[in-house]
Amino acid sequence: MVDSVTLRRAVLRPLFCAALLVCAFRAVALAGTEMAITIDDLPAHGALPPGMQRVEIARRLIGVLKERAVPGVYGFVNGARIGDDPGYAEILKHWVHAGFYLGNHTFSHLDIDRVTVPEYIADIERNETFLADFARGDSARVFRYPYLHEGDTRSKRTRVRQWLAGRRYRIAQVTVHFDDWAWNDAYARCVERNDERAIAFLKHSFMKAAMDRFGWARAVSTMLFGRQIRHILLLHVGAFDALVAEARRAAIPPAPTIPVESLDAVCR
Ligand SMILES: [Zn+2]
Repeated sequence: MVDSVTLRRAVLRPLFCAALLVCAFRAVALAGTEMAITIDDLPAHGALPPGMQRVEIARRLIGVLKERAVPGVYGFVNGARIGDDPGYAEILKHWVHAGFYLGNHTFSHLDIDRVTVPEYIADIERNETFLADFARGDSARVFRYPYLHEGDTRSKRTRVRQWLAGRRYRIAQVTVHFDDWAWNDAYARCVERNDERAIAFLKHSFMKAAMDRFGWARAVSTMLFGRQIRHILLLHVGAFDALVAEARRAAIPPAPTIPVESLDAVCR
């Protein structure tokens, strides 16, 4: 069982390094903002640009997160991707070695809207078994729904939630999500064509999308709660995410940090 101290350290300590990957967020806007960074689709996500390796992409991302002292980031795993290349297991080992945590994202990245409840649960269980070889303790009992789909019927949604609760899973919600995944395939095509101008455009549009969505999330938080909740940022372990992280890290001044109380505030 993950105790509250571990969870706090792993996920919810104030992460000024939100700026690390979404650096166009203004320093003023970041000041005092609490944000956890979560990375989906370990060990492999999106198209692989020519000349790049998955392990190296993950190393670069981990390197920036470590450099910026982001504590215990959660990475949500699809075990099936190891079937593409057993070498991807190194990515999960590096992740854990860096002090980060692995969560369950279903074995096959299933869309709950497209399968039955028994199929969906079986896939979560399969991933649970897979993760037992990598995750520390019970840390993998944090679940992120692929596509953020929680079920296309009330019955499905309820049954899976009940199963997760019975299995002592916490659900990793998301408050800031700007479809970062969509840039990775385009980036791979640009690398193939050696199109630096297009890559520069991608960087600009990526940051603009991040900033716009973060502003929206802050506004909604203020409107609904009259304060800033602890935000959770969703990114992916893609080549473009790693590129932006590296490109922007030095330009971001650390924002003030504020202690946060518990993962319970953002996971139900
Ligand atoms: Zn995913």
